[in-house]
Amino acid sequence: MQRHEVVVVGAGLAGQRAALAAVQAGRDVAIVSKLHPLRSHSGAAQGGINAAVGAEDSVDTHIFDTVKGSDYLGDQDAIEFFCREAGPIVVEMEHFGTIFSRSDDGSLARRPFGGAHFPRTIYAADRTGLALLQALWERLGSENLTLYDEWDLTRLVVRDGRVHGLVAFDRTNGEFQEISAKAVVLATGPAGRVYGRTTNAHSCTGDGIAAAYESGAALKDMEFVQFHPTALLESSILITEGARGEGGLLKNASGERFMVRYAPHVQELASRDVVSRAIVTEIKEGRGFSGPYGGYVHLELMHLGKERIESRLTEICDFARRFAGIDPVTEPIPVYPAQHYMMGGIGTNVRAETNVRGLYAAGEAACVSIHGANRLGGNSLLETLVFGREAGIAAAAYASTAPTPEMHESDLDEATAPLRAWSSRADGEDPSTLRTELQRTMEEYVGIFRDEAGLMEGLRRVRELRRRFEKVRVVDRSQVYNLNLTDALETGHLLELAEVIVVGAFARTESRGAHSRTDYPKRDDARWMRHTIARKGPSGPVLDYAPVGFTKYEPTERVY
Ligand SMILES: Cc1cc2nc3c(=O)[nH]c(=O)nc-3n(C[C@H](O)[C@H](O)[C@H](O)COP(=O)(O)OP(=O)(O)OC[C@H]3O[C@@H](n4cnc5c(N)ncnc54)[C@H](O)[C@@H]3O)c2cc1C
Repeated sequence: MQRHEVVVVGAGLAGQRAALAAVQAGRDVAIVSKLHPLRSHSGAAQGGINAAVGAEDSVDTHIFDTVKGSDYLGDQDAIEFFCREAGPIVVEMEHFGTIFSRSDDGSLARRPFGGAHFPRTIYAADRTGLALLQALWERLGSENLTLYDEWDLTRLVVRDGRVHGLVAFDRTNGEFQEISAKAVVLATGPAGRVYGRTTNAHSCTGDGIAAAYESGAALKDMEFVQFHPTALLESSILITEGARGEGGLLKNASGERFMVRYAPHVQELASRDVVSRAIVTEIKEGRGFSGPYGGYVHLELMHLGKERIESRLTEICDFARRFAGIDPVTEPIPVYPAQHYMMGGIGTNVRAETNVRGLYAAGEAACVSIHGANRLGGNSLLETLVFGREAGIAAAAYASTAPTPEMHESDLDEATAPLRAWSSRADGEDPSTLRTELQRTMEEYVGIFRDEAGLMEGLRRVRELRRRFEKVRVVDRSQVYNLNLTDALETGHLLELAEVIVVGAFARTESRGAHSRTDYPKRDDARWMRHTIARKGPSGPVLDYAPVGFTKYEPTERVY
């Protein structure tokens, strides 16, 4: 058995920042990651990271934009803390060596992003995530910590409401390992693969959120799923909001700039939920283009000119050329909305504490909540750093006085029993078939527009798939990189989280931010100005509600 004081699960920006803070506090720290750290989804972030650093901008405006963007479901005290930390933590990343793009006068260049009053999004061309990840990884290299690379967390060991460690699966040799830990930080990132059309990497299967839920942690606001308006047709590769920030225009099949009708003041730069709904409405009402991959609209960049497109949107050019055979310099890019971000996650406070003692969460796996019902672009890279650091500090402080963890011999057996059953079956369900059916179900019934009948059907189908999953079978018996086994593990997590998403969406009879009910089209503050809390019960999620944190921003109607 391995023993550490603090174990961070996940090596994206949140996990790395947590590990750095915990090491700096003098603790013995290990990182467990199913991917090499530099392959984490953080590295796919394109558009940038928000911080109010310019003379014309202010922290107060960043706070207000975030509160309004959240459709007033974000906790205002948490948002205030978050926005105040933005400038210093981005400058720290600059000092760690992040090569941010510059303006002509040498200052940090900023681009406009949806829902923001000022150009506030600091960027490194359209590779911001990778630039940050590489700089942080290099910084972490000079610290003394252990990396368990290509290990999958399979279960947390929680007894008496306290974490004692975890069980992980070593992909390289098929062995299960116990790690005892006084504190565990979950920084396992997104769960976007619940949907088929998603900008998220294949590895984004919500493992840590599912493990936390299994072990008694409360999940928050899981029904709020963000769809990004512009994903590349067919592959769903993200076309950054930076493309619209640079001046890109959305047009329907008649060549009309339709956003003028939906958001007259800011058009293409309205917040993501607004633009995604507009695109789907255009397609539904017959004003979109249609093709074998469904309806779509055009994103035009041509008027920006070759030089600007190729220097500011280098990756976008490359993606469009390689994956769609389209040259954005001379042709419009075909785009449709795709799942992009989960506002919900493991419920935490501003110190990244969960309801389980010694268990912390940060990054996209967590829900503080600063994004409320809708996240603003550029705020989640910032979240990984601000709350990753908070998680590391809090976990280290707790571990310095926490009692010695107690791991039992039975922990390993309990964690591995279901997996042994999957591999010993002579007959059963194929995990990838279940995953594909789940993704189609979620897209059809729990997508951008929702209603009672659809959600009920979605829930029925998800529960049926969960029943079928009880008979899942792993046919591959190899010990080395058994992807059939990891597929089964991840599919189980996706199914579990899908159920929480649908149950929460069904219960919330209002429209707020990214949760849009056609049968309840209005926001209902009297009944629903509250967070959904989901805990695992014997026959599915048990819902409860928690108040939203207010400081001084009175809820008003959200118009752009
Ligand atoms: C295509 C794309 C573009 C984006 N662009 C932007 C942007 O421009 N600006 C912005 O603010 N936000 C952007 N976002 C959102 C933002 O990038 C993410 O929310 C953020 O990077 C998530 O970071 P994280 O550290 O929480 O998780 P990740 O970076 O996803 O890291 C998760 C880590 O957890 C590990 N892990 C997962 N499961 C397990 C397991 N079972 N066992 C062990 N380890 C595990 C993985 O190996 C990985 O290291 C974008 C997202 C996408 C998908």
